[in-house]
Amino acid sequence: MKRVFNFCAGPAMLPPEVMETAQRELLDWQGLGCSVMEISHRSTEFIAMAEQAEQDFRDLLGINDDYHVLFLHGGGRGQFAAVPLNLATQNGFSEHIVSGSWSRGAVKEMQKYHKTSVLAESFIDQGVVNAPNVNTLCYSDTADFVHYCPNETVDGIEISAIPDTGDVPLVADMSSCILSKPVPVEKFGVIYAGAQKNIGPSGLAIAIVRKDLAGRALPQTPSILDYQLAASHDSMYNTPPTFAWYLAGLVFKWVKQQGGVATMQAHNHKKAALLYQAIDASELYQNNVAVEYRSRMNVTFQLRDPALDAAFLKQAEAQGLMALKGHRMVGGMRASIYNAMPLEGVQALVNFMQEFERKA
Ligand SMILES: *Cc1c(COP(=O)(O)O)cnc(C)c1O
Repeated sequence: MKRVFNFCAGPAMLPPEVMETAQRELLDWQGLGCSVMEISHRSTEFIAMAEQAEQDFRDLLGINDDYHVLFLHGGGRGQFAAVPLNLATQNGFSEHIVSGSWSRGAVKEMQKYHKTSVLAESFIDQGVVNAPNVNTLCYSDTADFVHYCPNETVDGIEISAIPDTGDVPLVADMSSCILSKPVPVEKFGVIYAGAQKNIGPSGLAIAIVRKDLAGRALPQTPSILDYQLAASHDSMYNTPPTFAWYLAGLVFKWVKQQGGVATMQAHNHKKAALLYQAIDASELYQNNVAVEYRSRMNVTFQLRDPALDAAFLKQAEAQGLMALKGHRMVGGMRASIYNAMPLEGVQALVNFMQEFERKA
């Protein structure tokens, strides 16, 4: 069997142990003689699995009873609509930190439902990409919420400081950094994430919603996006994405076995440091994000001569280093190194990059 190191930004690689468990259990789950995909979401077995997955997720991030944990449809983008449809007030507005393409995309969707105001954007200073300093922004105390994206998957930008928005709920799109490090959940009103980077299969989204923020949905909010309806039906208002939920549960167990999110953080730090050091030490590769804003999950880099891009990608693939092409909007290369990427994968990439540079 052939396995590659898959650097895809999403859907991303999953831990092989998780895939093996899913494979073993595929036809006969828990001795039921059928797949977890083929049973009712109302069955005792499924509900027990679903509750355990939620509990494991709560344990991993230390989520207390002040918060709902919702398993939803529609991925990350579904939440771009769900957030304003649940949190907006009539004639209200939201404030936005636009650090890259996903937070910009969120504004575009959210402004369909209420007024949005952009507080600050990423900018280029002498060729270096900088994110806004969230500590010096001036937040309104009357906004419905403040939205930002702590890890910009496309741009390779990470903001580690957490905006202090006072009593205004802080909403974070953590699609590409959830479970990669500990998070002080109590500082947030809503945290959401599409699953296909650090959690499991695409289509699923998880939302962590402070309980007082549910139950305020606008009248026109589609029922399947309504946080309160989801919460009061234990995320089974309609049929949930059952297989994705199951697989997410396996990933949570895997993260626990690894030692939890603090261990993931140390591991991710090591991987990113190895790759950035290799980039910084080379003449051929460069990363143009300010050091303090470099993403630990999505490492972007450019070859100084873009004419070499095609050969780089082709030779990388031949060595089993897949999906390194940067997002079409930014070009260059991007190595996504989420929780499931082992250090050996990053080491193999670094070795290849050095070899390629020697020959270039
Ligand atoms: C991938 C991603 C999304 C979109 O997720 P979908 O499930 O494709 O809708 C949104 N935000 C961020 C930060 C992402 O990385």
